[in-house]
Amino acid sequence: MAKISINLATGSLQKEEIIVGIDLGTTNSLIAFIDPDKKPKVINDTGKGILVPSIIHFNTAGEIVVGNEAREFLISDPANTIFSVKRLLGRSYKDVAEHLDTFSYQLIDDDDDSLVKIRAGNKFYTPIELSAEILKELKARAEHALKTPVNRAVITVPAYFNDSQRQATRDAGRLAGLNVLRILNEPTAASLAYGIGLDPTEEKTIAVYDLGGGTFDVSILSIQNGIFEVLSTNGNTFLGGDDFDRAIVHYWIEKNKLDSVAAKADPVLMQQLRLKAEEAKKALSSQNLFNEKLGEIWCTLDKQTFELLIEAKVTETLNSCKQAMADAKLSVAEIDEVILVGGSTRSPYVKAKVAQFFGRQPHDQINPDEVVALGAAIQADILAGNRSDVLLLDITPLSLGIETMGGLMDVIIPRNAKVPTKAGRQYTTSIDGQVNMKISVYQGERDLVQENRKLAEFELRGIPSMPAGLPKVDINFILNADGILTVQAIELRSGVKQEIAVKPSYGLTDDTVEKMLTDSITHAKTDVEQRMFIEAKGEGEQLVYTADRFIERNGNILTPEELTHTKLHITALKDALNGGNKDIILKKADELNEFTRPFAERLMDMAVSQSMKGKKID
Ligand code: AMP
Repeated sequence: MAKISINLATGSLQKEEIIVGIDLGTTNSLIAFIDPDKKPKVINDTGKGILVPSIIHFNTAGEIVVGNEAREFLISDPANTIFSVKRLLGRSYKDVAEHLDTFSYQLIDDDDDSLVKIRAGNKFYTPIELSAEILKELKARAEHALKTPVNRAVITVPAYFNDSQRQATRDAGRLAGLNVLRILNEPTAASLAYGIGLDPTEEKTIAVYDLGGGTFDVSILSIQNGIFEVLSTNGNTFLGGDDFDRAIVHYWIEKNKLDSVAAKADPVLMQQLRLKAEEAKKALSSQNLFNEKLGEIWCTLDKQTFELLIEAKVTETLNSCKQAMADAKLSVAEIDEVILVGGSTRSPYVKAKVAQFFGRQPHDQINPDEVVALGAAIQADILAGNRSDVLLLDITPLSLGIETMGGLMDVIIPRNAKVPTKAGRQYTTSIDGQVNMKISVYQGERDLVQENRKLAEFELRGIPSMPAGLPKVDINFILNADGILTVQAIELRSGVKQEIAVKPSYGLTDDTVEKMLTDSITHAKTDVEQRMFIEAKGEGEQLVYTADRFIERNGNILTPEELTHTKLHITALKDALNGGNKDIILKKADELNEFTRPFAERLMDMAVSQSMKGKKID
């Protein structure tokens, strides 16, 4: 294997090799690189197109197809066709619960804060694994088109993504066999594509308006000394060009006096209408009238009517812009540049409204579908050290985190984070009456702490005795400019506190960093499988514990038959836990949850009616 050297200060690998930029989108994904003329270019693998729909289909044999081929199954096999997985990355079931009706596939509700899982066939997948499939497809296309291995990438994420969503994106890259050099904000990438922020003496404030197929966001960025800072973001993760298409479909249904209930019950007709509507919308970006027939249905739309149909949605995006400006404490006059991103900004009405709001012409010269991937490729080129004019910041070369349940590594400061930096997370106890908590600090990219480098360990003592889950322990990592890491643990209810300082780079050689990075990629698949197994086991055990306690305390509210069935479900889950297959554990846990959910509601209703009885009414 070729030897790769790593620059410790930058965390970047130093070798002549193509580094790609990837826009991992909700609807479409694409990949770009810097061509030999030093120009960013999107990859079009022999006629397959530039945009890869972010859709994955699983057939009954568990085989996977990604992209256009998968899209064909959206109607014929919706339960096994996964789209919009980006909305689920790093999210818990609770986070997405209110939007469940937008997913045609099954999300697993295990009634807790753990990360959401998706069922396809009889298997359970994490959004990380599914995103990895999209990334693998992009990687394969790039390798085929460029005829060279592609191992390193910059991947973009929305500016509003939190740590957990960023980490999930990073893990997806690793699972796809990519060394993710940086997770880059999409608006920052768009700015770089326009060359904004490349000159270290440049000081600017910019607005990036991103209206895609299903999501909208606006970000206000400040650029100083080559550093991008997100001042504010706003948006709506369920607003986009798809809404425009839907508005057109409704308009046609009315105009043609179709029975709307019957039409909506016909998925094939609705899909045909939606596709026609999208065609009309796109046509109206360059002409004034669209006039076609779909069977007996007249699909006519003029520009003026279209604009009326989308006016309310566009106004909603401008209200978000207003809010973002207020949050950044800026007036529109203080914005130096406006950039358009996302396919829906091609509609002249959208462009005009954005121009009117900001009082200046937005940048729209670069294809709005490609601008983020192109910017990511530029960032990749900077990290590769090919642009000596651009400032590189000090970053931490390996992730820093602590050990959690089952020996898993929980990353608190991810690899490549700018130094100095500070990050924290809240934890709790797992045992009733637990008064001490051991905090073990590790460095590395592997999922199991035993494969990482241990930096320190200490104990937070004197947590007041409380039931499991009640104490709130904040763990903060503070990495200063000299590379000293201070780890602080504080129990919020009692105020007990403990801290320790270490130097993560102490005794760390370039060779070790290199080995740790390559190992994390070679072992990505088994690591993720192990992590998922440990997590499933932890969740399953927790569920058995809760269900046993429920029966012990509230068994009397169940009929004898319900009680027997609950016990059978618990035994099945216990057997699964002993069996060691993650999918069976999750399936049995799901079944137990489904079966017992009504009982919890019954208990709640009874508690409410009890308390009502006890209440005096004047
Ligand atoms: P994105 O998520 O950025 O790929 O954007 C996709 C959205 O852009 C979809 O709703 C498309 O229908 C829309 N779109 C693509 N081309 C055009 C166009 N020429 N005019 C208006 N909308 C478009």
